[in-house]
Amino acid sequence: MDPIISLRSITKRYHTGHLALNDVSLEIPSGLTGMLGPNGAGKSTMIKILLGLLKPSSGSGEVLGIPLDKDQVKIRSLVGYMPEDDCYIEGISGVEMVQFAAQLNGYTRTESLRRAHEVLDFCGMEQERYRPADTYSTGMRQKLKFAQAIVHDPQLLILDEPTSGLDPGERQLMLRRIKQLSERLDMSVFICTHILPDVQDTCDYVVVIAAGEVRAADTVETLQSPPSPSVEVSVIGNIEDFQRIVNSNGYVTVTNANNSLTVVGNDLIDSNKMWHWATEAGVSISSLTPTRQSLDQIFLQVISEEDHAN
Ligand code: ADP
Repeated sequence: MDPIISLRSITKRYHTGHLALNDVSLEIPSGLTGMLGPNGAGKSTMIKILLGLLKPSSGSGEVLGIPLDKDQVKIRSLVGYMPEDDCYIEGISGVEMVQFAAQLNGYTRTESLRRAHEVLDFCGMEQERYRPADTYSTGMRQKLKFAQAIVHDPQLLILDEPTSGLDPGERQLMLRRIKQLSERLDMSVFICTHILPDVQDTCDYVVVIAAGEVRAADTVETLQSPPSPSVEVSVIGNIEDFQRIVNSNGYVTVTNANNSLTVVGNDLIDSNKMWHWATEAGVSISSLTPTRQSLDQIFLQVISEEDHAN
């Protein structure tokens, strides 16, 4: 089956000089995908590029088979987008806001109103739909953003931090609605979040992004599969220089205490790669031990390392 999103070597450097995405290449299958990364990882930048709201500095790609630099209006008509920030017009009610979103997608006033009520019912919004949206709680605002994103039956739904600010009960309901859309309407969903359980509970596929780079892209099944072969390596010298070189060769690493790293990979035990990278980094290896660690532990560690760095 064709991927719903394809990106090839996408780089985005902002006018401040900040490199928000660095040579990102991805193929996202249809179904439910989570993009997991700490704050500042580049998730919103990627979404804006997918929606044609930002131009990449270089690279190319397609959304639903449409080239990013060709028909952005067509892409936006086929995609529903729930932004992280609030989106409502002060003074107008929830139902008017969703009706307006449907009208922007080309539906008549009457059809837009019918659709607005239908999706607000689906989102569990009761009589508060008639109140001005600026009086809403965080949970109601999330429902409203979700409703406006799905009112035109998009083929692909992009959700930026959909459970942000929700209490545990509301979070479960939001994740259940997302699954229902995928199962009942065959809608593909791309969820961007920094919350690992949101991805584990909902998604089939996961992309891990940190510091503007894709660290891993695989099925959640693999993520939760038994521990992967890895190597624990201790060095004498600057561990960060060594880690940088290992990462730049495409290996996921976890920092441990005592100047040591866990490096994930099947092919590391019997190869000379480690020794070669150590020489390149100007460090000496003091021990090299085969070990096993589950990928979700590793992903959690990648996320928490980045969170501490930010
Ligand atoms: P995320 O959504 O994962 O939190 P963002 O894509 O919002 O990350 O941001 C990635 C990095 O790019 C951050 O360091 C952020 O400060 C920077 N950034 C985002 N938008 C801009 C902008 N308009 N101008 C300059 N830097 C930006």
